[in-house]
Amino acid sequence: MTSLNWSYEGRNVLTGGPLTGTYRLRQFHFHWGQTDDQGSEHAVDGKKYASELHFIHWNADKYSNAAEASDKPDGLAIVTVFLKLGLCNENLKGVLKALDSVKTKGKQAPFSDFDPSSLLPEALDYWTYNGSLMHPPLHESVIWIILKEPITISSEQLAQFRTILSSDEGEAPCPILSNHRQPQLLKGRVVRG
Ligand SMILES: [Zn+2]
Repeated sequence: MTSLNWSYEGRNVLTGGPLTGTYRLRQFHFHWGQTDDQGSEHAVDGKKYASELHFIHWNADKYSNAAEASDKPDGLAIVTVFLKLGLCNENLKGVLKALDSVKTKGKQAPFSDFDPSSLLPEALDYWTYNGSLMHPPLHESVIWIILKEPITISSEQLAQFRTILSSDEGEAPCPILSNHRQPQLLKGRVVRG
């Protein structure tokens, strides 16, 4: 039975659901693929989504910062939102606009006043499992919260992700066409729903 009693209290504090204590939002990022029919890192019943959004949080009750939390079994919590191809998503417009100012490697843009819950689907049913970071170092330190209901993204909006460059300013432009890894199958894991 899925419990829905998790929420963002305030703008960047995640509580409830499978979590004990308070997890603070550290960063969020998207994964995408070279084509619209793949790009998510998780697959559901063998099916991939166009994109996957990760909100990364760290356990602020037990640890003093994200780096200290990152290799502890209860250190990190990642909320995952699938994006499926569909209508243009108004709520993504602010993020995509900010991308324009971080086109090249190492650039940062101020992104204040962002409410993560604006990118959540209506229903907050989830699967959860304890697993590893998908990016090295692969610490077994992540409580994954995978939302079942996807949000939408249009083909044009996905194309904007692929215009982000891995090159430095002044170097030959090298777009990041894809940044997803081999999918983690939800089957075969202890997934609690
Ligand atoms: Zn990620």
